[in-house]
Amino acid sequence: MTVSLVRFDGSLDSLRRAIQLCHGFEKLGRNDRVLIKPNNCFRHRIMPPYGMVTTSKIVEGVIQLLLECGCQDISIGEGAITGILDELDPYTKHGFRGTGIDRVAEKYGIRLIDFNQGPFQEVDLGEVKVQVARAALDTDFLINLPVLKTHFQTKVSLGFKNLKGCLSEGSRKRFHTSGRLDSLICLLNQAIRSDLVIIDGIYMLEKGPETLVGVAHRKDLIIASPDIFECDVVGATILGIDPLQVDYLREFAQRYGRSFDISSIEMAGEDIEPLKERLEWGFEPDQELLTPAKVTGLFAPDPGQSLCSACGATLALALSIFGKDNPKMDFGAVELRYGLGSGPKRGREDGARPSPTKVFLYGDCAIRSHMSLQRKVKGGIPLRPSEEVFLIEGCSPTLNRTLLMLTKALLSKPRMLRVLLVRTMKLIGIRLGIYREMFPGWERYRSKEFDQSHFS
Ligand code: SF4
Repeated sequence: MTVSLVRFDGSLDSLRRAIQLCHGFEKLGRNDRVLIKPNNCFRHRIMPPYGMVTTSKIVEGVIQLLLECGCQDISIGEGAITGILDELDPYTKHGFRGTGIDRVAEKYGIRLIDFNQGPFQEVDLGEVKVQVARAALDTDFLINLPVLKTHFQTKVSLGFKNLKGCLSEGSRKRFHTSGRLDSLICLLNQAIRSDLVIIDGIYMLEKGPETLVGVAHRKDLIIASPDIFECDVVGATILGIDPLQVDYLREFAQRYGRSFDISSIEMAGEDIEPLKERLEWGFEPDQELLTPAKVTGLFAPDPGQSLCSACGATLALALSIFGKDNPKMDFGAVELRYGLGSGPKRGREDGARPSPTKVFLYGDCAIRSHMSLQRKVKGGIPLRPSEEVFLIEGCSPTLNRTLLMLTKALLSKPRMLRVLLVRTMKLIGIRLGIYREMFPGWERYRSKEFDQSHFS
């Protein structure tokens, strides 16, 4: 099959060309039930959307081209990450509004499906049974519409990983806690078949998956193919990540006898060589989130793949806010443990961190895993007697609870009251739309390179 590489010039024609060059609609029937699966995993209006979520511009273009083909039965489906903020709306609906996809759907009379609401169908992925949104299985033509981004756990998040959004909330968590994230992503893509993958590369994201740590760049590229493996191999190569190092791609290649040899992939359109980047994918969460505020003594070592997106996203937001509210403070030796891991998986050595005096067990997984370890291991390892332990319960804990716990445990009483008062007013201001939170690095999104109209 062919992978097309086309420069996106803002016109519908460039998207049309990308689909034509890879023969993307060859198997599409005008009476088919078509499902579009964008990456709309999480979008709050305060967060820059660039490179994090699929643009409504590309979603709209795909709908226009489907209508040109005579398709009438078109839906857009997504299951957003839940539990981050105390939002009143369901998260998926909130996400569709945040990217402008709801307005596109309304304009063309397209059905929006919140996968989180079900119904689900059980799918056996070997040792793990998962619940998959029936809408993703009961479709004649699935258009997988990811964004061009790196990911701190799986190195890239393209077509393969985008389908994780078709799972129930519980099954998404299971993917992480099973310890087989890459393998399950590979198997899921056998259970749900993408008929066409279109990678939205108007923007690309370094140190993804979100823009608290991640840095977006303008790319103006569309990568498309009916072959999801080849499309992801080309996408990873363009991001500067060796596809052989992406575990779920490697497992897929081994299982189904696919080749990583990029020269054997038929490509049409742009030459791939000048498009190749060298983007970073890995990072230490605490260093990225707290160093800009010059906060020291607060450590949150990367727990690896056991961390779900909900816990990760909430903690990233909480640390960013906490750092911003307490600049230049030194907390001595405080450690946050989260997910099922108990220490750093890469980068810093344990020796670089002092022994903690205060430990936060963030999320039910961390609480369960450390408590059961404590029962099994004499002497209370890894919670040493000298460690004061705080539990932040929840699966995942909410942002408000996390901020409250950190503030109460780490600040003096007068400072705590002041910080809580100001922060509460800011959170109310955000909710009312009268206060706009800014974090270091977000200034760059004010430049012309980043066009808000791609999300309206
Ligand atoms: S506590 Fe966090 S990491 Fe554990 S299952 Fe819940 S969301 Fe996932």
